[in-house]
Amino acid sequence: EKEYLMLPGPTPVPPRVLRALSEPLMNHRGPSFKVLIEEVTEGVKYVYQTKNDVLILPSSGTGGMEAAIVNFLSPGDKVLALSIGAFGDRFATIAQTYGCIVDKVDFEWGTAVDMNLVKEKLDADKKQEYKAILITHNETSTGVCNDLQALSKIRGDHPALILVDSVSGLGVMDVKTDEWGIDVIVTAAQKGFMIPPGVCFVSVSPRAWAAYEQSKCPKFYWDLGSAKKFLEKGQTPVTPALPQLTGLREALKIFTEKGLDYVFAKQLYLRDITRAGARALGLKLLADDSCASAAVTAVWAPEGFEAKAINKKMREEYNVVLAGGQKKLENKIFRIGHLGYVQHLDILATIGALEMTLKELGAPVELGQGVKAAQEVIMSRK
Ligand code: PMP
Repeated sequence: EKEYLMLPGPTPVPPRVLRALSEPLMNHRGPSFKVLIEEVTEGVKYVYQTKNDVLILPSSGTGGMEAAIVNFLSPGDKVLALSIGAFGDRFATIAQTYGCIVDKVDFEWGTAVDMNLVKEKLDADKKQEYKAILITHNETSTGVCNDLQALSKIRGDHPALILVDSVSGLGVMDVKTDEWGIDVIVTAAQKGFMIPPGVCFVSVSPRAWAAYEQSKCPKFYWDLGSAKKFLEKGQTPVTPALPQLTGLREALKIFTEKGLDYVFAKQLYLRDITRAGARALGLKLLADDSCASAAVTAVWAPEGFEAKAINKKMREEYNVVLAGGQKKLENKIFRIGHLGYVQHLDILATIGALEMTLKELGAPVELGQGVKAAQEVIMSRK
């Protein structure tokens, strides 16, 4: 039966990309691979809006986050870690694991980073000891998006690198890597890029390469300098995830055919449909409109109801797969992913199933309420 995979990753894979995933394998030290790796690297740079180096590594997103730490920092380096949820916590933990001195600032889950506080922290750092600022672009656990451009402005002349986890943001929301002066951005395959998990991407600014020269963290598999050297001859240091790369080549064609403006506008549109539908059902959203993610919407379960029971019924009766809450939000929220290969009618189906699920569980909803509000957004944007 048809399943609606409405997760914030892995996301559905378009049929043309599925076909490209099953292309015959090739010699990764041969001429066809050189053409492939160069083409996909250029394509990923287009989505990053950068002329910086971008390295493609065989790993999920977390490996890319680890690469962002071990390549540009050293044990004993002071870093400012800004966390608004589970993935912000993870980034800080990785830095700590490698011996960095982590000054971690936690913001309430469901809110964005308060940039005034960051400014205070940087102003107070008279000796300019912070070597890096760690930030999550799109916090998947809460559906909140941080303003990278604002962070870059606040950093100003402070020499700290900005290291970004945009695992669920890149390819979904507008990120102007070069214009905003972001040093390192990590993303992964299985979200906005619409391919199965198994590769991650890391962009590296010239300033970040200068930091790489000073970095004393141990690295071998994650050594980006080695990845860059191999890329210069059209290769990778280790055997690459070949199917992901042929799939990526096809997925990137979708980006270039449609154009970035189209992709980003569509993602915001899907977010707006989702939020209108959920709100019309009387449901509370975790994130305020001002910082609401275009990739995922976190919804509070109605009072007295378990989010897990809602997700279970959605899956078992309607084949709609939603994500749950993580850590302190477990069983309190459910999350609707609306990024990548998703269209407006997938959201209508999800909201329709949600109405029936809530009604069957005994919540005070009226059938058609949420769907109607969602349809109105669709019709108003024609
Ligand atoms: N950061 C963010 C913001 C994420 O959404 C995820 C995946 N949900 C990760 C990091 C970790 O990525 P992976 O599971 O691919 O290692």
